[in-house]
Amino acid sequence: MKRAIFPGSFDPFTLGHHSIVKRALAFMDEVIIGIGINEGKRCLMSVEKRLESIRKIYADEPRVKVIAYSGLTVDFAQEQGAGIILRGIRTVKDLEYEEGIADINRKLSGIETVFLFTEPEYSAISSSVVRELLHYGKDVSAFLPEGMEID
Ligand code: ADP
Repeated sequence: MKRAIFPGSFDPFTLGHHSIVKRALAFMDEVIIGIGINEGKRCLMSVEKRLESIRKIYADEPRVKVIAYSGLTVDFAQEQGAGIILRGIRTVKDLEYEEGIADINRKLSGIETVFLFTEPEYSAISSSVVRELLHYGKDVSAFLPEGMEID
């Protein structure tokens, strides 16, 4: 069983994230979307709402699971029996930063990180852009997977 975890804050889960999961399912048996809980961070959506809305997107896809976790990502990965951490890359600039973290995670646990580039049309869509647009009252439905609601 090839199982990967895809960690992030997913506040909210965007079309960019959705495209990474789709790409991962092409070569993994199971993808666990791990919602990292960061106590000190103010978020747009509650953890419960993020779990519920992402689970709805994958209601017909038994190979995707959505779980919240706190603590180190490598500990969560080991707990879930996942041999791979997935990270989505929007631009080449992301890679340098992500490679450093991947290196640390490999040293800590032996778990490898797989980088996946998003489809170019989604590369500009980040959770923070969506949050900013919402702040100014814009309709963000074009950036979210179909049927996904936000608070
Ligand atoms: P984090 O705060 O850990 O970066 P995010 O929720 O912002 O969490 O993102 C989770 C993962 O999704 C990260 O690997 C991030 O690089 C990736 N990601 C974010 N936006 C996009 C996008 N538009 N296309 C592809 N990957 C993305």
